Amino acid sequence: MTIPAIDPASGVQFAESAALAPAEVPGALRRARAAQTAWAARPLEDRLEIIARFQRLLFERRDEMAQLITRETGKPLAEALLTDVAVTLDFARYNLDHARRVLRPRRLRFGNIAFLGKRGQVFWDPMGVIAIISPWNYPLLLPFGEIIPALLAGNAVLLKPSEFTTRTALLGAELLGLAGLDAGLCQVLVGAGDVGAALIAAGPDKIFFTGSARTGRKVAVAAAERLIPVNLELGGSDPCIVLADADLERAASGAIWARFTNGGQTCVAAKRLIVERGIYDRFLEILVQKVKALRLGPGSAPDTDMGPLIRPSQATELERQLQASIAQGARVVTGGHRRPDLGPTFFEPTVLTDVPLGSPVWREEVFGPVLPVVGADDVEQAIRLANDSAYGLSASIWTGDRARGEALARRLEAGAIQVNDATWHVGAAEVPHGGEKESGLGRTHGEWGLLETCRPRFVASDWADWIRKPWWFGYHPDSAGDRDAFLRFAFAPSLWQRIKAGPRALRLLFNRRPV
Ligand code: NAD
Repeated sequence: MTIPAIDPASGVQFAESAALAPAEVPGALRRARAAQTAWAARPLEDRLEIIARFQRLLFERRDEMAQLITRETGKPLAEALLTDVAVTLDFARYNLDHARRVLRPRRLRFGNIAFLGKRGQVFWDPMGVIAIISPWNYPLLLPFGEIIPALLAGNAVLLKPSEFTTRTALLGAELLGLAGLDAGLCQVLVGAGDVGAALIAAGPDKIFFTGSARTGRKVAVAAAERLIPVNLELGGSDPCIVLADADLERAASGAIWARFTNGGQTCVAAKRLIVERGIYDRFLEILVQKVKALRLGPGSAPDTDMGPLIRPSQATELERQLQASIAQGARVVTGGHRRPDLGPTFFEPTVLTDVPLGSPVWREEVFGPVLPVVGADDVEQAIRLANDSAYGLSASIWTGDRARGEALARRLEAGAIQVNDATWHVGAAEVPHGGEKESGLGRTHGEWGLLETCRPRFVASDWADWIRKPWWFGYHPDSAGDRDAFLRFAFAPSLWQRIKAGPRALRLLFNRRPV
């Protein structure tokens, strides 16, 4: 079995990769387990060295990588270089700089006097073998933003990339191999959804899934049956609120980039534009003028702003959402058509007004270049409209008053909220990335993402084993009274009550009577 690599700009196959049969997945998991034990036993410094070498190799081969990403996804080369390659290099930088600190064992201090004689610390042990199931839209950044911390923490990784972007995944894994990583530690399982399902059934120790909410639900159910912890990075329908005091030129430029970058196929895109009524007409005019100036073309052409959609099925689904919304009353202000003259999946950047709140372009996740615009009477209505969504991935607010923007941001139901910008945080290695509601569970990136690849393991011992354990056996008629004195000593609201209970309570800890 093979999986074709298709250039979305032309629809033409340019390579193919050997695919795995689902029955071969357990074997890959066994190889990963065998390699992981020795990997986890190596000092962190060794693992850091390999990731540093991977970073250098990726830097050296950045053009080759970016061109491959453009070929597989259709995005402009400038975007492949910046949003995939540069961000992955930066994720490596962050983890190289911070893994020592984040993975250092943490000594605990016990506030409960009952544990006076104890010392204990939390170690961040690797989960074991981590399954990473990825989509196609950021085929380097998304999996490697999880692979790098997972490997540094001492895990092995099984990557099931999207069937549309296998070559990028294979090149990334090849660079890890050249950096000195054992082949069993980052295996690419080439295949479609059945290979992803087989990967979960094989029983990895943790799953990081990034993709649609529809598939995410199936993954969560399969993981729940096996009690495998799962991290879900799912779809979004991010609101973008433009308030009357915003710099309209900047807000329009920012919203357009955040909606149409990567052909509108970004999880954290500005998918629902909410504009305060007082500036609605003027803002729409600026917005439409800027959208009309976007150049549609193949990602390999140097002046292309927006490339094609990934597959014809994506364009068909976008047309369904658009036509159903138009039938309900939405109006196309610009765009609205496929462009078969350019290639099989090109779609014009589109702006819609008069959008019914129940229409698909407002209710569903729209994964393509369609921007619906809705007016709001005031800020309160804007916030209500923004939060009225099944999703909660990210959000943005545009305003001339930064403090007000930051205060309003706290009222939005999303994992990350930007004031006077949008979307950038997913490429910032320090920021916890993830969503609320149907946008997912858990976080990736930053120290939160690194710790999600670990099991916190607590180890404790006694520094003073002559201190009695007030919870051990040896009960006698005074036991309940002794324990009550202990409670009063620890928790009584008045200081005098505590002092009075002190002698009896402390006897419980320091009495030499054997138990
Ligand atoms: P998708 O859900 O169709 O596929 C994602 C991955 O899951 C692919 O590798 C696919 O082969 C695999 N898969 C399919 N069925 C499976 C099954 N039953 N079990 C296990 N794996 C299975 O998503 P897509 O079309 O590749 O990507 C687009 C979606 O991803 C959008 O909804 C987008 O918002 C979302 N996304 C989210 C984030 C985020 O960080 N939250 C980032 C990028 C994309």
